[in-house]
Amino acid sequence: MSPFPAVFSGARFAVLGLGRNGLPAAIALAAMGAEVWAWDDGHAARVAAESAGVSPRDPAPILARCDGLVLSPGIPHRLPVPHPLADAARAARVPIICDAELLYRAVRAAGSRARFVGVTGTNGKSTTTALLAHLFAEAGVPVAAGGNLGPAALALPLLPDDGIFVLEMSSYMLERIETIRFDAAAMLNLSPDHLDRHGDMAGYIAAKREIFARQARGDTAVLGIEDAPSRAMADSLAQQLDGPRVVRIAGAAVADVSGADGILRDAVGEIVDLRSARALPGAHNAQNAAAAAALALALGLSRGDIARGITRFPGLAHRQERVGTVGGVVFINDSKATNADSTARALACHERVVWIAGGIAKAGGIESLAPFFPRIDEALLIGRDAGTLAATLAAHRVPHRILGSLDRAVPEAYAAARASGAVVLLSPACASFDQFSGFEARGERFRALVAALAEGRAA
Ligand code: ADP
Repeated sequence: MSPFPAVFSGARFAVLGLGRNGLPAAIALAAMGAEVWAWDDGHAARVAAESAGVSPRDPAPILARCDGLVLSPGIPHRLPVPHPLADAARAARVPIICDAELLYRAVRAAGSRARFVGVTGTNGKSTTTALLAHLFAEAGVPVAAGGNLGPAALALPLLPDDGIFVLEMSSYMLERIETIRFDAAAMLNLSPDHLDRHGDMAGYIAAKREIFARQARGDTAVLGIEDAPSRAMADSLAQQLDGPRVVRIAGAAVADVSGADGILRDAVGEIVDLRSARALPGAHNAQNAAAAAALALALGLSRGDIARGITRFPGLAHRQERVGTVGGVVFINDSKATNADSTARALACHERVVWIAGGIAKAGGIESLAPFFPRIDEALLIGRDAGTLAATLAAHRVPHRILGSLDRAVPEAYAAARASGAVVLLSPACASFDQFSGFEARGERFRALVAALAEGRAA
């Protein structure tokens, strides 16, 4: 692993948004020789940039003479309201690009033929990205993973010719790429999301499809086929002349690579029994495993390496993560589940559950979880909208109590689960911002409370 040479000397970039992506981008672009005009509308972000060695300066006056505007994913360039600098860039025909695009250009300019893998989809991106990176790492292949998950794209190291970049690509990033050609790319699934930014479902699907743009013969396109829009995308890509090889994958249906009935298999035969992969429970994770396996096979990993890597995958924090067993009770941290859809995946994995939920409820609430209510021994509710959740549970006669905080809910959940033999599942189906800085902080608090319980002390 080595740093990049001055591949952007002579280039000038505007960077707007100095957060998780923008700040590393500004630092990396300067280190690669570019002239960087980095800015953030927020005073606090500008101060943080200054102390990280980036002196903010407003790019507006020189924007027309920039080679690109690097816009952070959270800043809209079209909908619902474009940022004025994005409007100005469009008027001046300055390309609006994301950091992953620049990583690709930098790697190629440095002369490395390292391969690129992209992963997108409405759900499962982070799990699939992390799993795939793990498969390569365990097999001894130089790999760097990031993008939407983990390190920002421009914080990744330069990899040699035999290296592999695995990039988690959000729909926001996919609208801002121009030259990336993924050797292998996966689109896992499609359900309505971020429609405020993409206008409508068609706009969202068009953004996701960009992950396959510029792919040609010799490249591989991996697509889930468990929802109608994804199936349609697979069919249309398969008809493309000189297009990529299309591999259809599924968690629970028949496909080229499928995890149906808990066995991951392709046309050649069984790859691995997914029941031995403890960090990948449920049909949704079988879909993620099928995608990672299809991508890994396309890039030349052996079936044995894939099987071993899947079995040993430690899983990602806050996604159905087993954080401990106390007095025979298993505690599962699924804090990332901020909507009912995600919580449904977790509830589907367990027969008997003491369920901790609540926070800021999403539109539609938890009514869609009704098919899983018979599995719930008791629901312990926290956060701002506990009352709303309680009303739905009461209507379905599900035992529940409003406890307010996670600190109160965890010991109560332990007592309830000990009596009934259930698992304790934190899968809030709600956003966390009423009580925590984000889902990570909520999950960390849960972990600390379980650890305290195990040691018989207060957290
Ligand atoms: P993303 O990065 O796309 O948000 P994650 O891998 O972080 O996805 O998973 C987030 C949540 O989404 C998980 O906790 C699980 O509830 C759900 N999920 C994961 N994979 C899938 C999938 N393939 N299909 C549907 N839901 C999924």
